[in-house]
Amino acid sequence: VNAEIVAIGSEMLTPFRSDTNSLFLTEKLNDLGVDVVFKSIVGDDRPRLVSTAKLALSRSDLVVFMGGLGPTEDDLTREAVAEALNLPLRRDPEVLAALEARFAERKFVMTPNNHKQADVITSATVLPNPKGSAPGQWIAGKYEGHDRVVILLPGPPHELKSMFLTECQERLRAKLPVRFLATRVLKVAMMGESLCDSRIAPIYTQHADVQTTILAGAGEIELHLRASGATLEDAHRRIDTLAGEIEDELDDSIFSTNGESLEQIAGYYLQMRGATVAVAESCTGGMVAERLTSVAGSSRYFVGGMVVYSNELKTKLADVPPLLIEEYGAVSREVAAALAEGVRDRCNSTIGIGITGVAGPTGGSAEKPVGLVFHAIADEDGTDVVERLFTGDRQRVRRFASQQALDMIRRKLM
Ligand code: ATP
Ligand code: MG
Repeated sequence: VNAEIVAIGSEMLTPFRSDTNSLFLTEKLNDLGVDVVFKSIVGDDRPRLVSTAKLALSRSDLVVFMGGLGPTEDDLTREAVAEALNLPLRRDPEVLAALEARFAERKFVMTPNNHKQADVITSATVLPNPKGSAPGQWIAGKYEGHDRVVILLPGPPHELKSMFLTECQERLRAKLPVRFLATRVLKVAMMGESLCDSRIAPIYTQHADVQTTILAGAGEIELHLRASGATLEDAHRRIDTLAGEIEDELDDSIFSTNGESLEQIAGYYLQMRGATVAVAESCTGGMVAERLTSVAGSSRYFVGGMVVYSNELKTKLADVPPLLIEEYGAVSREVAAALAEGVRDRCNSTIGIGITGVAGPTGGSAEKPVGLVFHAIADEDGTDVVERLFTGDRQRVRRFASQQALDMIRRKLM
């Protein structure tokens, strides 16, 4: 079953407001096994509303209109959808009475423009709105010979949410074939989106029964898998099959199949190995420490560390020899290694992490460009350094660098 969402309101065509209701609706519809295939935003303009409504009705089984049900001149949803469906509006006496009661209760005078909130499309079921004045509407009928369900919901998010949950969810479930849903999130560290996709596209394209969505961030890709089936086992089997094949292909680049963050996984391995870690951070300014300590229970493996931004402090707190900085520069393989070894020594930890780089946007040179970061990990067997050239703004480079460091902890211990 395909659904389409139409958000109505000129304010959402400005830079100041966005359509968030459709995110809520999409999640709820997906849970019912309904795919949202189109979303549109239309201003408060009757001809545009009518043509959008006709297009939506011509191509989607379920069309949800939201917003524009209020009493004001620019609230045109009822009229436009009625016109598109070629059905007349009728003034519902019960809805009108409820509106009058609502106004009386609040000791407000009901102005005539409020009456149109009692207009419902002929054949519509009225959906009560205890949180606001405009009721919603549910219409099951035909459009150009096809079965359609049309829902009108109010725009204010709290009204829309409660009306969907109390009035629409079960009505929809009763109309839809029984489907069970299974989802899985696989997380991949430090792999480019195009490389990742080129490796897994040959796999997921063979599984049309599972919807695969790729979400890429700085140093992390999330693969969202979603499948529905006639039974829960059936849905899970589809997900398990595809997830298994992707795991075989990406192997240890996948760090989580359960939604955990990279800092959680790094912490999990540290704890499992009985190891501790200390960090000496320059360009990340404490981001690795912040991420590690965001996990409850991190005191069991995170001993602490230092933010060593100046050359002087690199020497004073992490024992980086001044001559090393003079010879290779603060952003270098050698200084990263010295930071990791120095902090490990000073803090008496199993593992030491050192990070130094050029976060930008200024401070780059031909030799040491913006985005160049050295990451070092030291343990009793020695020190490894990874050099990376990240792209993006300052925040993105720093996030990438923290991600790389956490991934090095994970890989060292797994
Ligand atoms: P009302 O009776 O309150 O006028 P309405 O159905 O006419 O209800 P709108 O006037 O379109 O609703 O919107 C009311 C408020 O709800 C607006 O201020 C708007 O910011 C918010 N809103 C409307 N549509 C959305 C949406 N799709 N996503 C998020 N917020 C929305
Ligand atoms: Mg309104």
